[in-house]
Amino acid sequence: MEENKMFKAFLIKYGEIGIKGKNRHLFEDALVKQIRHSLRRAEGTFEVTKEQGRIYVNCVGEYDYDETVESLQRVFGIVGICPVVILEDEGFDKLAEDVISYMNMVYPDKNKTFKVHARRARKNYPKQSMEINCDLGEKILDAFPEMKVDVHKPEILLQVEIRSRIYVYSEIIPGPGGMPVGTNGKAMLLLSGGIDSPVAGYMIAKRGVKIDAVYFHAPPYTSERAKQKVIDLAKIVSRYSGPIYLHIVNFTDIQLYIHEKCPHEELTIIMRRYMMKIAEHFAKETDCLGLITGESIGQVASQTMQSLAATDEVCTLPVYRPVIGFDKQEIVDISEKIDTYETSILPYEDCCTIFVAKHPVTKPNLNIIKRSELKLAEKIDEMVEEAIRTTEMMVVKED
Ligand code: ATP
Ligand code: MG
Repeated sequence: MEENKMFKAFLIKYGEIGIKGKNRHLFEDALVKQIRHSLRRAEGTFEVTKEQGRIYVNCVGEYDYDETVESLQRVFGIVGICPVVILEDEGFDKLAEDVISYMNMVYPDKNKTFKVHARRARKNYPKQSMEINCDLGEKILDAFPEMKVDVHKPEILLQVEIRSRIYVYSEIIPGPGGMPVGTNGKAMLLLSGGIDSPVAGYMIAKRGVKIDAVYFHAPPYTSERAKQKVIDLAKIVSRYSGPIYLHIVNFTDIQLYIHEKCPHEELTIIMRRYMMKIAEHFAKETDCLGLITGESIGQVASQTMQSLAATDEVCTLPVYRPVIGFDKQEIVDISEKIDTYETSILPYEDCCTIFVAKHPVTKPNLNIIKRSELKLAEKIDEMVEEAIRTTEMMVVKED
């Protein structure tokens, strides 16, 4: 849109309550860092500045408006994005003229209520804030008689900030909310090629947690394409979370060994316990404070309360399951919003679908499971070590 060319900066609104004192500083610095990182994808040159408790993105020269907004909408911690018109101070009459053309451009439909809210960051401006409010309000009413002032609940809150130059804005484009990645430690995501786990990773990252990931593949039972699909999903999640260290574990031998030694109906549970153990190994090695999965109560046999308890029993780190109380459709809705859905539904096999039993236990008894696992005693430790040793690690980020 041509009219977007008039915006030369964006004011970033962030508003997580309870960030005070030193924490506020950390929050803002992390936010600035993530904004800079995300804007590398947008065409243009940007200066991100922190001044007087505000964060501005200044656009230097030509830039792509849509790409810029899209990039900012992926930065956790941003609550709102306000496109700003920056004016030189050439006297009040010129300001009024520019404000009128701003209103004309941004609001083609004039049947609206408004209120002017002026702030003087520069105190030597000849008019006081209240005076600016009244005088600009009057000029706008003169120019657009259909508009009305409403000081309590205006549809348009026109902000006029007098700094060395004058900043005018009124629109707020919603941001994703949450907290800047890096302000709340790190966790290890068990990432499969499904719909749920990318959503789970997104949700935890949204709370400011940096994420790494682990994927278990089982060649030749799972294809290279299945692996590529997981890498592609990690790439999409990394648009929000920043670079992801993805561990790719070859799980074939362990799966075959469990398949050979243990009752088939217990296969999934036992396999999941080993996945958790190996994931926890990498989590601890890289200072992660928890594990993340995409499980939701009752979705499949391995996600009943009993099964989840049996899986958790092998972990010493907390296991975070952000979609635990969500219906499938609710998870799908988020995956569509974050753009992982189309990739998640590609048909390549993931390792769980190959080894599933016809009638898996839905209420595993931990004692029985542990007894079955004893049958693995001879070789399993060695196999786990081998799987860890041969794990491939890659950094996944957007090109
Ligand atoms: P998803 O849609 O996330 O694949 P799902 O409904 O298919 O979930 P399961 O296959 O039982 O459920 O997996 C439950 C969770 O276990 C996943 O959300 C994921 O966190 C983890 N998981 C499953 N398979 C793998 C795998 N091959 N590699 C890494 N993690 C996995
Ligand atoms: Mg799955």
